[in-house]
Amino acid sequence: MSDSEPPRRKTLSLKSAVAAPGGPPPLERMVKPSARTTVFTPPAAAPPPPPPVPVVGDWKCKPCGTRFDPPTELAAEDHVRCPSCNARLGLASDFRADPPNVAKLRARWLKKA
Ligand SMILES: [Zn+2]
Repeated sequence: MSDSEPPRRKTLSLKSAVAAPGGPPPLERMVKPSARTTVFTPPAAAPPPPPPVPVVGDWKCKPCGTRFDPPTELAAEDHVRCPSCNARLGLASDFRADPPNVAKLRARWLKKA
């Protein structure tokens, strides 16, 4: 009666799906080849300081603080203007007065003792 043992199930296909030798490596391995940069880097590569700006001018524009010299080619009744902000700082004659008529000027005389 009993014919024989039941046929064995083939589990080959299942096995090969689980363990895939020679498959692609896991993603963690593919991050990047650890670049060993043992080059000494200074803590802060500070840029070189800008060269000192030569201080020019005995006057300082009150509105913007720029130092300047009143142009000598101006007529006495001409207005001296700031070379930076173009503000009218006063008459050239007031700049040239000795001592300069600072009360009328919108500039500060830096040579004042
Ligand atoms: Zn100015």
